Formats: sequence, C-alpha cells, structure tokens
Amino acid sequence: MCGIVGYLGNRNATPIILEGIKRLEYRGYDSSGLAIIDGNKNLKIFKESGKIVELERALPGPDETYGTIGIAHTRWATHGEPTKINAHPHTDSQKRIALVHNGIIENYQLLRKKLEEEGHSFESETDTEILVHLIEHFCLEEVSLTDAVRQACKLVEGTFGIAVINRDNPNEMIAARRGSPLILGIGNDEFFVTSDVSAIIIHTKRVIYLQDNEIVTIHRDGFEITNLENERIDAKISEVDWDVSSIEKGNFKHFMLKEIFEQPISVQNAFRGRLMEKLSTVRLGGLMMNGNELKKIKKIQIIGCGTSWHAALIGKHIIESRARIPVEVEYASEYRYKNPIIPENTLVFVISQSGETADTLAALREAQARGATVMGITNTVGSTIARESDAGVYIHAGAEIGVASTKAFTSQVTVLTLLAILLGRMNHLSPTYGATFIKELRSIPGKIEKILEMNDLIREIAESIKDYTNALYLGRGVNFPVALEGALKLKEISYIHAEGYPAAEMKHGPIALIDENMPVIAIALKDAIYDKIISNLQEVKARNGKIITIATEGDKVVKKFSEHVIYIPETMHILQPLLSVIPLQLLSYHVADLKGLDVDKPRNLAKSVTVE
Ligand code: GLU
Repeated sequence: MCGIVGYLGNRNATPIILEGIKRLEYRGYDSSGLAIIDGNKNLKIFKESGKIVELERALPGPDETYGTIGIAHTRWATHGEPTKINAHPHTDSQKRIALVHNGIIENYQLLRKKLEEEGHSFESETDTEILVHLIEHFCLEEVSLTDAVRQACKLVEGTFGIAVINRDNPNEMIAARRGSPLILGIGNDEFFVTSDVSAIIIHTKRVIYLQDNEIVTIHRDGFEITNLENERIDAKISEVDWDVSSIEKGNFKHFMLKEIFEQPISVQNAFRGRLMEKLSTVRLGGLMMNGNELKKIKKIQIIGCGTSWHAALIGKHIIESRARIPVEVEYASEYRYKNPIIPENTLVFVISQSGETADTLAALREAQARGATVMGITNTVGSTIARESDAGVYIHAGAEIGVASTKAFTSQVTVLTLLAILLGRMNHLSPTYGATFIKELRSIPGKIEKILEMNDLIREIAESIKDYTNALYLGRGVNFPVALEGALKLKEISYIHAEGYPAAEMKHGPIALIDENMPVIAIALKDAIYDKIISNLQEVKARNGKIITIATEGDKVVKKFSEHVIYIPETMHILQPLLSVIPLQLLSYHVADLKGLDVDKPRNLAKSVTVE
C-alpha cells in the first residue's frame, strides 16, 4: 500500500530512493521520508507530510544528503494522522537504528506498554515505532542487527514489510516481510529493497521476491536470506519482464489516460498464445489442469474486491451462459469471515491486479484451508497471490500505475471470457461457435482503437456533466457489471456520487431520483434485450433525465431521446464489456481532469490495498 525503497551500493542513495518512492507515490501519498547514513556514520533523517515534492523541497543540498546506504518510504497512514512526526523512517531511543514499515502491527499496544515499562518513550502515534524500539531492545552487544530483527519479527503480530539500517554499520541493510510485499533487487555491486518492482526496474530487473517470515541481510558484496528459525534460504532469482516504458507516462498527461489507450495492446496480450484456431478453442496452460479435471468442475467461485469484483460478475455471466457451470461471485472481505460453503468439485478463482490485496489473499488462504483448489488471476508475477495459489493465469497487462484500474479490468475480463470458452467447448459449445469467438476476439483490439478515436467527443460530453453531483449508470445482462464499473470509475477519481443499476431495476427505487439534474449513462447495445433497455430509457426521458447512451454503430433510435450518444462497434454479446467500458473509462477520466483533480492519485485511495 505504501512504498518502500532501500539502496546499498556505490552511488549516492538519496536521488535513487527518492526517485524510487516517487514511482510508488500512487500507492500511498500522505507523507514521506528518508534516512541515509553518511561517510561519518551520521544517521540523517528527513520527513515531510503531504506529497513527495514536499520532502524534495525540504531536503538540504546534495552534500548534506550524500550517503551510499539509505531507505525511503511513502506512507498511507493507518495509525496516527499523516503528520511529519508520524511519517517514516522511525528511529530507536538512541537514534542509531532507522526503520521503514509497510503494514500494521496488530499487537502494538501491548508491546508499547511493555517497552514503556522498560523506559522506552515514543514520539509518534504509529504502530511502526514500537517495532524499531523492539529491535533496539534485542540489539545488545554481540547480537547482530539481523538477529535483533528476527527476534522482533517473532514477537509482532500483524503484517510488515520493513527495511532497517543502523548507523554503526553503514555496510549493512536488513529487510523482512510478513504479509506485505518486499523484493530484493540485485544490481551490479549494488542492491535494492522495494515493495514494488516498478520502483527499481530502471536499475535492475533481477529480483528475489521474499516470502513471508524471510529476512534478507544485505552487505556491500552480497546477501543472505534466512527465516525466523535462522535457517538459510536458497531463493530463486527472477527476471522482471516489464518494459521500462510501462512505468513512464510518455506523452500522456496522466497514467490513467495512457493505460486506457494501451488497451488495444493489453487485451491482445491477455489472449496472445491462448487461442487454438485448429481446435476452435482456447488454452490456459497456467491452470495446469487437463481436460478430465476441467470436466469435473461442477461449480466456480470467483473472489475479488472493487474493479476485480466487477470483472468477476462479468465472468459469472459469461461462464454461466456459455459453459453452463454455476458461478458464485464473492467480495473477498466478506468471504474470509463468512464460513463459506465450498462443495466438492468447486474451483475457486481469486482476482487481484497487484496479487497483494490483503482481503483477497486471506480469502485464498481460507478457501485453501477448506481443501479447495484455488486459482489466481493476477497481473503481478511473483506476487503473493501468484505464489500461494495452486495455479493460475496471468493477465499480462503490464504495470498499471493509475489508481483507478482500467487496462487490468479489460485484461481480467478477457481471461475470464477465455475461461468460459474453454469450459464451454468441453461441454456445450460447438466448434463453429468457438471459431466465431476466436475471430471476433481477434478483432476486439482494432475495435477498441476505434472507440479511442472518440476521445475528443467524450471530453465534450464530460464537460456537460462535470458539475453534477450525482449520476446513474444503467446496463443489463453482461453490461450491468460494466455499469457498476463505470459508476465506480466516476466515484473514484471525480468524487461524484454515482450508482450502477440493472436498467429495469431502476423503477424499483432509483427512478425517484431522476430529474433534470441527474445524468443517466446507459449502455444500450443491439442484443436480445435491446428493446427492453430502450423502454427503460424512455421512462428516464419521461422524467426529464439527461441521457448519455453507449449505443451500437448504426442505431438510429437512441438518438431520439439521448442528449449524447457514443457509438461503439458491434460485437458478439459476450465480448461487449470489452468495448462498452472504454467510453465509460474515458468519460470518468475527462470529468476528473476537467475538474482539475489529481486523476492518478485520487484522495483516500491506494493502488494495492495491502491492509484489511
Ligand atoms: N501502519 C503504519 C503507519 O500507519 C504503516 C502504514 C503504511 O503501510 O504506510 O504508519
């Protein structure tokens, strides 16, 4: 959720770790700080509340911030307000040890009391500060910093990704994790620690994803990984396959806009190598299940949060209609505490862009504890969900930096649609259907391009709704979850209250809200229920609602009652969400941008929600 970056090498750490946390600023941005040890073994700490530029502004000249070892942090406050004092790094009583932390120490009150009884006093309201005092408590003579960290990790409950330095030894950095992501980057005679690879890939793509309860001790000439029992761990070095350009904005004003425009390629990457023309079906090798095993599936559960939950709802619709297998969609945060029923032959899927979403991870563990096979659908190779699930499918969307998810959504939907066809072709779907699907899916990237060409028109429409305070999104069938997703996008970045409804459900309540101040954004595409949704829209019109319609190219009817129409190319019913969501993403983007809001870093939100 927050960002951690550490550096140990021959270069000046400060610009490297500062640049690193800037790349992670989208993950948490209420305050930030850094610590370096200079050539005279002085530990120097700089912190500020607010965005990282505040920290940058407050830094003294390069001579005073020079050091070849340093740690930095962007905070997303959980305990204590985002003030300068509460910002990380935190230090021990003697200001020798500095620590940055991502996560929550659940038993901090108990530990704080014990430490206070021993004479420790605390400056901040954070849970984090007790951790560095606890390390100090164990860091007696003859005890290495690694062992002190190990002892402290054994005592704390909750989640942590930490990086620790000690001014007495400027040649050593310790990092450890439980529940929060932490990665070791291996460069040429230099090492990095980070909570997210995008912070370091301009320096190195060789990384080790630390596992829970592992501790890495980094020296100038190498590193060693151990566990809480002090056993040595032989970890695998992975190569990150993200392109550096995926973490740069390029010519786009915001990451979100860039990511919306990347969808012709990201959707293609989600199906690349997975279409089997000869057999008119698809292949999802990552599932590691053969035909017999797949045929035994009697039920599917799909678990996610936020946008991933919307993708799951679309998946449910398509899998049930094409593969005739019942699907339950669950909020991860509810699933983990509800004593879920998982009948035999149920396949469970968990969806998370980052692969680190705390609630989704807990749901995965709960399902596994009940004996279920759990598949991960994630964007992040080496993430905790990718590692802990029994198998799974990567969506290959590339780094997604904008907090409001766009390309990850369409890639998740693409993968779930492939799953539906794979299962459907084993049961009811004909080869002709499979062949038509493949051909149509291949045309989707081109059709997305066509919608993106309407960017200027959509900005004009955004201008006309940007000052409203509410909006209603309507869709039916497979496009109902798209309406939910459209409403979520608007809420997230423009702070306009918006709701998504199945269009016909409107008359059971929300219709009471309709008047000339309520824009209604409707997805009314040419399909079996087209006539029904047209009637629903007439009901809106009769009450002076202001209708913006996403319609199929060539539709002459919708114009008559819509204030604005965005025409999108025709496609098969089950592929419609991949097109209908694009104008909704652009609409939210432009509304937020026209309102002058910080699109990539909306207030209160964080990209990868690693706390419960
Ligand atoms: N719980 C810690 C705090 O509130 C860390 C939060 C974070 O992950 O940024 O300071």
